[in-house]
Amino acid sequence: MDTLEIGDLVCRVRDLTVHYDVADKPVVAVNRIGFDVYRGEILGLVGESGCGKSTTAMAMLRLLQSPGRVAGGNIVVENTDIMQLSPAALRAFRWSRIALIPQGAMNALNPVIRVQDQLADAMAAHGKGGAVIQQRIVELLEMVGLSTDVRKLYPHELSGGMKQRVCIAMAVSLEPPLVIADEPTSALDVVVQRHVAQSLLHIKRTLGNSMIIIGHDMGLMAQLTDRLAVMYAGSIVEIAPTKEVFAHPLHPYTEQLIDSVPSIKVKKPLRALPGNPPDLRNMPPGCPFAPRCPKVMSRCHEEAPALREYRTGQLAACHLHEQS
Ligand code: SF4
Repeated sequence: MDTLEIGDLVCRVRDLTVHYDVADKPVVAVNRIGFDVYRGEILGLVGESGCGKSTTAMAMLRLLQSPGRVAGGNIVVENTDIMQLSPAALRAFRWSRIALIPQGAMNALNPVIRVQDQLADAMAAHGKGGAVIQQRIVELLEMVGLSTDVRKLYPHELSGGMKQRVCIAMAVSLEPPLVIADEPTSALDVVVQRHVAQSLLHIKRTLGNSMIIIGHDMGLMAQLTDRLAVMYAGSIVEIAPTKEVFAHPLHPYTEQLIDSVPSIKVKKPLRALPGNPPDLRNMPPGCPFAPRCPKVMSRCHEEAPALREYRTGQLAACHLHEQS
């Protein structure tokens, strides 16, 4: 097992590349991305469907299914390089050091096994004993704002929001320092979304852990996250503290994502993002956002911009700023 010192960081991802081996040449779904997650922070990963957010999460847990594979890079969590773990060490590491709140809680739970038995499963697999588990199940349900009676129910007896909170309770049952939540509020109505978001924040404050929250709802990201990484066509195009991203986005794609968020305070026309993300099998030359970018320049069609720091802690991949 490799050890790399990352100090106050919980997670460091460098040059992570994921290929899908289809047809004659691999499709690059995640293209040499890198980011850090600090202790106690929530990092948001945003972008349209197909930009590589969930693939990144699956790669970080080494849960990619064929034809997907990690083609390169390091994923270091608490000084352990996940890519170097043996299958047995990986099984012990998952859930105890890095856990996933999966996309679509509706399908993540087994409908014919009681909540308490599903919550107990991962804890027992990591060596916890019966009495400890029963006490922990009560604590976990209270932590996510559910009645302790829920433990005796079957998932089909729960609402969507309750199922999502059971999934959150499960993911934090062993108090992992890093939790990845993949679209934790999708398919929920706005009121329930708010409750689930509050559960996530309450857990982070109670356990002091770090989270990566994946989604495309910029409004929710503004409320939940400390820093935001914006992904487009498999690459990170901007990363910065969330406040900075909303106050002065550097990348035109980020700007357009923010413009598409409705506001009840400011009356403004709602702007949809025109066009579609590029076909990953046939990427345009130069900047991948060029075909949709309102600020495109001739250089953009020839040369891909590198991710660079243009303000303190704010990095973007856009030629516009190279000129200033
Ligand atoms: Fe737009 Fe050019 Fe910046 Fe790409 S590099 S986002 S095309 S201005």
